Amino acid sequence: MVNFVRTTIENQKNVKILNKQTHFESIYIHIPFCEIKCPYCDFNAYSKIDDLTKNLVEAIKLEILFWSSKFKKNQIKSVYFGGGTPSWIDSEYISIILAEINKNFDLSSNAEITIECNPIDLTNKKITDYIQSGINRFSVGIQSLDNKTLKFIGRNHNKAQALEGLNNIRANNIQNFSVDIMYGIPYQTHSHITETVNGLLEFDPTHFSAYSFTIEPNTPFHKFVKEKKIKELDENEYMKIFHQLYDLLEKNHYENYEISNWAKTSFESIHNLNYWDNNKFLGIGPGAHSYVNNYRFYNENSPKKYISKLNKQKSIPSTNEFLNLLNNTKFISGKENINEDTKIREYMIFSLRKKTGLNKDIFENLFKKNIDEYLSSKFTDFLDLNILVKHKDVYKFTNNGKLLSNEVFREILHPESK
Ligand code: SF4
Repeated sequence: MVNFVRTTIENQKNVKILNKQTHFESIYIHIPFCEIKCPYCDFNAYSKIDDLTKNLVEAIKLEILFWSSKFKKNQIKSVYFGGGTPSWIDSEYISIILAEINKNFDLSSNAEITIECNPIDLTNKKITDYIQSGINRFSVGIQSLDNKTLKFIGRNHNKAQALEGLNNIRANNIQNFSVDIMYGIPYQTHSHITETVNGLLEFDPTHFSAYSFTIEPNTPFHKFVKEKKIKELDENEYMKIFHQLYDLLEKNHYENYEISNWAKTSFESIHNLNYWDNNKFLGIGPGAHSYVNNYRFYNENSPKKYISKLNKQKSIPSTNEFLNLLNNTKFISGKENINEDTKIREYMIFSLRKKTGLNKDIFENLFKKNIDEYLSSKFTDFLDLNILVKHKDVYKFTNNGKLLSNEVFREILHPESK
């Protein structure tokens, strides 16, 4: 490892990537540790590997050094610690990683710096440590305030612990925090959602993320459904829950600025909007995804292999060719060149996800193409069925249409007919 750092420092004189498209303003850090693995989760997250923490943090520092030697000048407007559960590891490690980013990139003085937390980790000590390190936004994984639901989905907290974590957030004067909730969980009812949202509103969060519960392949829950040990939620109840959720948040002045996200005015997540604006970002850590210079690429998933590959990366490839750099970087496990067609289709999907919608004039100015070339005949059906509305050449989802957004996205990516 020492060799790597020495060579890396020598390589600071290394050839910079010349293409100006390497500009990115957001950094994501993936912390893959969790206390327990929830049975519905298919994220790159692991329990019982805490002995790797120190080496993983060292590897993350090496990766920061690696990329900064090529992109040092980029001004960073957001940093996001996601996972996994970043709050599960010692707060000191978060501070070390942030200091390394600060040292090696031009971190804007008003950058949004978010950490995902489980409520049981939100002790006064940890919150104070985070604030001192520069964290200024907390995203708390509450999921539900119904004890039976929490137990069913295998979370490591109950309602009382969730409330205690949020009380500590408030007691430490944290103004900007988001809460994650899930809806459509088997056995959930619309009164559970009402209780959960009302309970959370008491803390006046600036932001809500609400995700529809899905049974992902290769998870214990998928097996339980196949073995008929659990039943997916009845469609009518799902619809009631969905409408209840939207009504409550709208009534309480949260704006649904992205399909799954609501914010009070000026509290939209800068980091996540950067994704939905289809801007570039750098992902660091095992399994982290990046989008830089027309390439989407991702790191080795396994924390153990990621550490080992970082340590084997003896030097930074001396090249100003971006593809060459990716090809000679050991800890990257895959990449995809984003051609013009994919870029356009991704742009359409991200635009539709946002409340601002897909604007024909902006699209045509940006891509110098007629938007009709990209709208199959099925779009007329989407309009007729009131899944989408078109007003002054801007396409948007209706609230009901948001429930079928995946159908629309599938059609954009793989049009059935013209
Ligand atoms: S805490 Fe989050 S990341 Fe970890 S296993 Fe549960 S759902 Fe997955």
